[in-house]
Amino acid sequence: MHRNTTVENGTVPQLQGRVCSGVTRASERSAAPINRDIPSILVINGSMAASRLLGGAILAKCGCRVETASTLAQAEALLADKRRKFSAAVVGLQLQDAKGTRIVEFALEHGLPTIVLTGSWQEETRRSIFSYPIFDYFVKGKLGIEDVCRALNRIPLNNCTKVLVVDDSIAARDLQGAFLTAQCFHVLFATNGAEALQLLAKHPDTTLVITDNEMPLMDGITLTTRIRETHGRDELAIIGVAAKGSPATAVRFLKHGASDFLAKPFEKEEFYCRVYNCIGIIEHARAITKAAYTDPLTGMGNRLAFFTQAPALFSTAKTSGEALAVAMLDIDFFKKVNDTYGHAAGDEVLRHVAALAKDQLEGKGVLARFGGEEFCVICRGMDRTAAWSLFDTLRAAVEASSVEYEGVTIRVTLSIGATLTPLNSLDETINHADQLLYEAKNGGRNRVVMTPPPVETSKGVTFLMP
Ligand SMILES: [Mg+2]
Repeated sequence: MHRNTTVENGTVPQLQGRVCSGVTRASERSAAPINRDIPSILVINGSMAASRLLGGAILAKCGCRVETASTLAQAEALLADKRRKFSAAVVGLQLQDAKGTRIVEFALEHGLPTIVLTGSWQEETRRSIFSYPIFDYFVKGKLGIEDVCRALNRIPLNNCTKVLVVDDSIAARDLQGAFLTAQCFHVLFATNGAEALQLLAKHPDTTLVITDNEMPLMDGITLTTRIRETHGRDELAIIGVAAKGSPATAVRFLKHGASDFLAKPFEKEEFYCRVYNCIGIIEHARAITKAAYTDPLTGMGNRLAFFTQAPALFSTAKTSGEALAVAMLDIDFFKKVNDTYGHAAGDEVLRHVAALAKDQLEGKGVLARFGGEEFCVICRGMDRTAAWSLFDTLRAAVEASSVEYEGVTIRVTLSIGATLTPLNSLDETINHADQLLYEAKNGGRNRVVMTPPPVETSKGVTFLMP
């Protein structure tokens, strides 16, 4: 059973509804406009008061529209209405027209990732509901509401999280695939280590590999060793799997780079705990890396990101003789903006110019905010006409635009120094672009100074804006 989860190379459906349009009660249905493009969360619960409370929390914390039903019959009517789309269900077990776990079966039959709310914590209930491929279950109450919201926010993340299951046993692949599918992960399958390496090359954004050891062609420990040659422990997690009673295999897996080990047979919840622990470590590492390389004000790369990517681009272009443009960009009289309108207004101006620069330059090379009001870009494959056009279009876009801040219209201009002549090193080339930027400033600002100039001029050295 594959619900809302992508297996192999299909497209990845996602929990929608980030743009919320309100909580709709059954009594308001006829009057409420239906946005057909945004799937809602379906809450099926006997108590309407509790549903409203939960709906409000989901709206606030997940940004999702919620529709509620207090009976199975109401839920059936909602799901029969083809204008309505639902991305997940949250169900309570106490319904007047559905006994036991019938409502859980109903939600799963409709292909909805299902979260169950129980009245109390009883082992028998837990075993009963967790025997279904539900997303999770929680006990009702304040904590339960928070848990539901966290789980709903997890679903779209899981849709985009690739997990590769490597096992030569069909039964083992099916079991783990079913567990992961119930969690809405994007699941990939391989039958041996060699196949797994091929799939990883095709899906370099894979987050977790769960691998058996004994397999034909390449075993799991060899696979783990091979993966660790190219993927660090903070980039990709690996869980080794082997039969209980093989402690040496567990140790070998861990010593060869596995993040964790799982002994067969395992409980579904142990499987989930280990999967989420591993994924959590990778997600934290990715978040830290992203924060370290991103300028928080503009969202573009920072100096660290620039000097991580640009040197390789520079040396490749230099070796191949490919045309290369390096430019420094600086907002004119930016200090005046801060002094006149305050730093918050200055931040708005920085964001605005950064957005225009991203529109023009992103995807053409490496663009970064170097600090203050200064940006640097390195672009490959630029002849002098293309480079001039690119930089002067950006300059003109900044000049033509304005920022509205607290009722005030703020206009700024941009000066750019650009070189198409790579010197011995990237640093030297950037320094040269910086000198050209000073020429642009000294020449009156709001201009591009480029070398060589875009067309031959009588002066032959630089081309200033008319
Ligand atoms: Mg095997």
